[in-house]
Amino acid sequence: MSDPINDQLTSGSHYSYWNESSALLEYKTLQSNLITDVLIVGGGIAGVTTAYCLAKSGRKVVLLEDGCLGSGETGRTTAQITYALDDRYYDLIKIFGEEKARLAAESHKHAIQWIKSAVVTEGIDCNYKDAEGFLFLDPTDKSENLEKELEATQKLGLPTQVISEIPGLPLKPNKQAIRFPDQGQFHILNTSQGMQILSSVWGRNIYQHTC
Ligand SMILES: Cc1cc2nc3c(=O)[nH]c(=O)nc-3n(C[C@H](O)[C@H](O)[C@H](O)COP(=O)(O)OP(=O)(O)OC[C@H]3O[C@@H](n4cnc5c(N)ncnc54)[C@H](O)[C@@H]3O)c2cc1C
Repeated sequence: MSDPINDQLTSGSHYSYWNESSALLEYKTLQSNLITDVLIVGGGIAGVTTAYCLAKSGRKVVLLEDGCLGSGETGRTTAQITYALDDRYYDLIKIFGEEKARLAAESHKHAIQWIKSAVVTEGIDCNYKDAEGFLFLDPTDKSENLEKELEATQKLGLPTQVISEIPGLPLKPNKQAIRFPDQGQFHILNTSQGMQILSSVWGRNIYQHTC
């Protein structure tokens, strides 16, 4: 027999660690028209963070979610807060130029500090930890791509380093990796819930299920 709440925990086929290790918050269904400054559709990390920032700045915010908080991609993430991008910085430089690639690098670095500061300032209980990230090559990738990425990150002012050992993950002989220091990790659903609760506590955020 299906359980209407647990069926909405995730849009995927399986529950993630995050689903299984966080308390479920339940919200009211939207029953009537509301007047608000801003309507946010979607309670993933993007929607919840936007609600948090707007509520903090004094706006009335309504956030609508058609599943549960974090039931989309957010509830299935690795939750490494990183400025090591899936798209390579050397590609960003090639496509957008150095100045815009630098903006991308700086904004990702700034976001890590912003999240850490929000978590600490607000006392959000989400196991935030400083972490480091590592980029190493898939066996099908070429070593020159790692060299190009190291050069690009350093050109953009990122404090990356080349290393020949990754803690807990042996590299093949003569293989190298790039270390990205000053990153973070946290319990994504506890962080999202913390930001949402704060938005509500400030009396400006109404959080509803549409279903
Ligand atoms: C396996 C995996 C690992 C990842 N690892 C990392 C990582 O380590 N670091 C990192 O930075 N990123 C990582 N990502 C990416 C990251 O998780 C996503 O970029 C991020 O969670 C996207 O958040 P979002 O709020 O934009 O979207 P979502 O989390 O998908 O939120 C969208 C929300 O909108 C709701 N919604 C959709 N349509 C409607 C509607 N019509 N009405 C109401 N609600 C609606 C959905 O139910 C959902 O909750 C990873 C992703 C995956 C899949």
